[in-house]
Parts: sequence; C-alpha cells; structure tokens
Amino acid sequence: MRLILLGPPGAGKGTQAQRLVEKYGIPQLSTGDMLRAAVAAGTGVGQRAKAVMDAGGLVSDEIVNQIVSERIDQPDCARGFILDGYPRTVPQAKALTAMLNEKAMQLDAVVELKVDETALLQRIEKRAAETAAAGNGVRADDNPDAFKKRLVEYREKTAPLSDHYHQTGELKTVDGMAPMDEVTGAIERAIAAA
Ligand code: ADP
Repeated sequence: MRLILLGPPGAGKGTQAQRLVEKYGIPQLSTGDMLRAAVAAGTGVGQRAKAVMDAGGLVSDEIVNQIVSERIDQPDCARGFILDGYPRTVPQAKALTAMLNEKAMQLDAVVELKVDETALLQRIEKRAAETAAAGNGVRADDNPDAFKKRLVEYREKTAPLSDHYHQTGELKTVDGMAPMDEVTGAIERAIAAA
C-alpha cells in the first residue's frame, strides 16, 4: 500500500497518518519530521534547510526528492508507505512518479484532506499551546508569522497538486473538517475504493 496524504498545514495529516500506520503496518514518511531530524542532527542537509523551514518556506525540491528516494529504499518500506508532506510541489510530484517508475513501484491512492482555511490558524495555535503545556518544545514554525507564510506557500505551490492528481485519476477527497474518527473512516473507504 503506497499512499500520499495531501492537505494544508494543520489539516490533520500527521494524526491520520499515525492511524493508517497502525491499520496497515506501513511507515509514515513525513518529510517535515525527516527534515527536523536532519536539523537536530546538524547534518549538511539540516544546516541548509533550517532557516527556510523556520520562516515557513519550502526546502528545495532537490533536497526533499533525494531524502524521499533514499528513505523508500529502506527495508521497512518494502510493503508500502504513507507519504505525509511530500510531494508539496508539482515538480516534486513529477519527480516522485519518475522515482517510483525507476524502482518499479506503484502508487495506490492520493488522499486529500479538504479543510476550511479559517480553521487552520486556530488548530496550529492550539497545537502550539498543547505542546508547550505538555512541556515539549514548540516547533519553530508553529507561530502566526511562519504559519501565514506556510499557508501562502501551500496555496501557491501545493494546492495545484489537487488538479495534478485529479488529472492522473488518482485523487480521492475527504472532508477534513469532520470529527477525527470520521475522517479516518472516510480515508479508509477512499483507499478501499482506489
Ligand atoms: P506542516 O505541519 O505544515 O504540514 P511539515 O511538518 O510537513 O509541516 O513540514 C514543515 C516544514 O518542512 C515545511 O514548512 C517546509 O519548510 C519543510 N518541508 C517539509 N516537506 C517538504 C517538501 N516536500 N518540500 C519542501 N519543503 C518541505
């Protein structure tokens, strides 16, 4: 099972991806998590990505394509994976198609979480408050300025992916405003129908 989860920042991709991990026994590949790990480890990629990420911008396609290509070659991805936060641009989507062809892998479904944009800032503020209350470090980009930039990047560069995957016939759209369990159910049905 190879899946892509699409949706704006704060749409709930991470939460839903975790549930799919349990249900299907395949890993969640979050490029955001991978990049944050690279930043924390102080690798070359991390050093190049940090400032852009903190400001809410997008890391170069070249870097993320490389990270994903290496990650899906790992043994735990043999039965599939859930891509969360990748692809984020049309060129990334094209690179992914080429990459999968080269590896003789096929995509099973692209599931988009549709969310009302006005709800997103509230969700992000809540996440930052909850993380801080739990005594954990808040993400550097979970603040209103960086978040606005993330939304702009989303509208300009990521939203066009809906059209892209609609044209390839792979897109399934789910209402991301419904309660979490209902969203999970709708995603599972969309996958089953794919
Ligand atoms: P969100 O919570 O907004 O979905 P992520 O955790 O997926 O954010 O990603 C955080 C940051 O990591 C992004 O704002 C961006 O700077 C960088 N990033 C993650 N995935 C990609 C990608 N596919 N292409 C470019 N940049 C990315």
